[in-house]
Order: sequence, then C-alpha cells, then structure tokens
Amino acid sequence: MIIEQLHETRDISDVDLKLLIETGQFDRELFRHADKVRKEYYETDVYIRGLIEFTNYCRNDCFYCGIRRNNHNLERYRLSQNEILSCCEIGYGLGYRTFVLQGGEDPFYTDELMNEIISEIREKYTDCAITLSIGEKSYESYEAFFKAGANRYLLRHETANPEHYAKLHPAGMSLENRKNSLRNLKKIGYQVGSGFMVGSPFQTTDCLIEDLRFLQELEPAMIGIGPFISHHETPFNRFKSGSLQLTLRMIGILRLMFPYALIPATTALGTADPQGREMGLRAGANVVMPNLSPVEVRKKYELYDNKICTGDEAAECRDCLSRRVSSAGYKIVTDVGNVRLLKEQHPQTKTVPETFNTR
Ligand code: SAH
Repeated sequence: MIIEQLHETRDISDVDLKLLIETGQFDRELFRHADKVRKEYYETDVYIRGLIEFTNYCRNDCFYCGIRRNNHNLERYRLSQNEILSCCEIGYGLGYRTFVLQGGEDPFYTDELMNEIISEIREKYTDCAITLSIGEKSYESYEAFFKAGANRYLLRHETANPEHYAKLHPAGMSLENRKNSLRNLKKIGYQVGSGFMVGSPFQTTDCLIEDLRFLQELEPAMIGIGPFISHHETPFNRFKSGSLQLTLRMIGILRLMFPYALIPATTALGTADPQGREMGLRAGANVVMPNLSPVEVRKKYELYDNKICTGDEAAECRDCLSRRVSSAGYKIVTDVGNVRLLKEQHPQTKTVPETFNTR
C-alpha cells in the first residue's frame, strides 16, 4: 500500500515515511517499483560522469571529511590547468561527455583562474557538460563560472536539519548559507545537484525526512547520497559508518519521489560494500561517476577511509565500471546525460522548464 501510494502520487505522509525508513519490510517491493520507474524514464541507460578531483586543499573544517583543514597528516596537492585539461582529453577518449571538477574550497583557484580553466574546457569540448563541485561561493562567482561555460553544480546540503548541520560543521558554517548557495545556483540557471550522507553522526529518521522535504522544495536535477564512512584523522573517527541497506532504501525512495532525477551509485556506496554500486543501480540509481584524476593524487583525495578505485588508471576504472553496470543488468551510454522528463505524466511538476535548463 505505502509503496504503491508513493509510486503513484510521488509522496506519502511523514508517518508512512518513518515506517518505510525504519523497517526493512518494504524493501523488496520498494526496489521493484523503483526499478520500474527508472526504466520508464531512463530504460537501462546509465550515465557516466568523469570525476576530476583537482585539489585537496580546503579552507573548511567539516567534522566528517578527511580533507578538512585541520587534518595535518595529509599531503596536499593541486592540479595545474594543463593537468586538468589532460584529464578531460583522456576522459573524452573514453566516452565521457560530462566532466566534474571537484575539490576542497581552495582559494588558490581564484575566480579568474577558474574562469580560465572552465573557458578552455568549454572551447575544446563543446558537446560536453561541465560540472563544478567546489563548495560555497558568492552569487557573483557562481554567475561568472556559468558565463565561462559551466552548466551544472553539485553541492550537497548534507543535512536539512539546522541543529544537525551544526553538529557536523564548525561554527561559521550554516545550513542557511548552504541553502542560499543552492538557491543562487538555480536562479543563475545551473542544473543543480544536492544530497546528503546517510548515517552521519547524530542523524535521526526525522533528519532524513527533512532531507526529503527539502529536496521536494528544491527540485534538484541530481541527488547524490552515500553512506557516511568515518575517516581516522577526523573528530568523527570513532563513529560507526552509515548502513548500506539504509542507503539503498533511501535511493529507492528518492527514485519514487523524484522519478526524473539523476541519482548516482556513489563511490562511498562502493566502499561500503564491494557490490554496493551494483546494488545502488538496482535500487533506482542511474549514474556512476568514475574517477579521472591522475593516479598519483587519487589516494590523497581521501574523504573517508578505504575509498575505492585509488589505484586504477582512468581506462581501467572505465572498463571495471562497464562490467559492473552490465552485470547489474544496465548499460553505460556515451551521452551528455541530461534529465529526461515524461511531461505528460507529471504536469504538476511546477518548475520543470527552469529547473532543468539544459543549455
Ligand atoms: N568541497 C565540495 C566537495 C565536497 S566532497 C563541497 O563542499 O561541496 C563531496 C562530498 O563528499 C561531500 O558533499 C560529502 O557529502 C561527502 N563526504 C565527505 N566526507 C565524507 C565521509 N566521511 N563519508 C561519506 N561521504 C563524505
């Protein structure tokens, strides 16, 4: 009943969500419905995004994150403009049509430098999407990057509960700032991705419900979630990691609530279990984000302990992912990978044309 209602109306009450999130009794039915919906929208296609982790310097000090400023036991690195460009070149040859530039909040990359990097990628790869994931910036900076040619932005809200947010971040960071950044990005015209960690310290079921409610308000094109995994050099080193099963359940719920969404089977999911990403795809995910960073720096972008794929060349990652995706019953496609909508089925989605601006 609950699952059918969620499938049909894309929503259920908080009370039903709580029951769904807290018990495993609906999982089989949930995943079956989620897979049906993902196939209606995306068939068996899986989009790939080439992830370029270009700096592990960060001015922030998020309590969960391995590249936080106060981790002094980490060798820091930055990729030059040429190194970033050569990652794109390798990636393009391997079939990537989206490049994701992710990093800590690193002031070394001034707006001018970012604009240069973005413009050069934009000029060389006119048929590709450029995604940024470099944290909170001013409206003006976001706007400049957009003008330079970036068209997507990933910024997880991490948790939609302000008190919980304060427990995961140092004073000076706030949920309100994070939300404002997300609103600014949308206003400028980016396709926005948000998301949260599952099982982060002090998270409750109510926090997860708030996450879903916030996403309903934001209507992002992409929703990235993964289990929290503790990192030995952070204040959260003694907390246990988030549950694989709960993460899968949340993916299934997201697929039914946001049928059109781009939902990655994340590296954190693959770290939690060797088959985690395959299970994620079967629970409703439709994107994978293999690593395109040079092998020499991979290990240094350790957001959490035992992060997978730190030893493989880009081509090996690409092949390995292809095999994994087909073993789960899906297929990787060479495509810029925009949101697909079945408008006639969802006339009530209020902000569709603006939200999914696909320039
Ligand atoms: N500086 C950028 C990129 C952050 S890293 C930004 O602020 O958006 C990308 C994501 O990794 C984060 O948004 C967070 O959700 C996730 N992450 C960080 N530490 C983690 C951990 N210990 N376990 C699981 N995920 C983590």
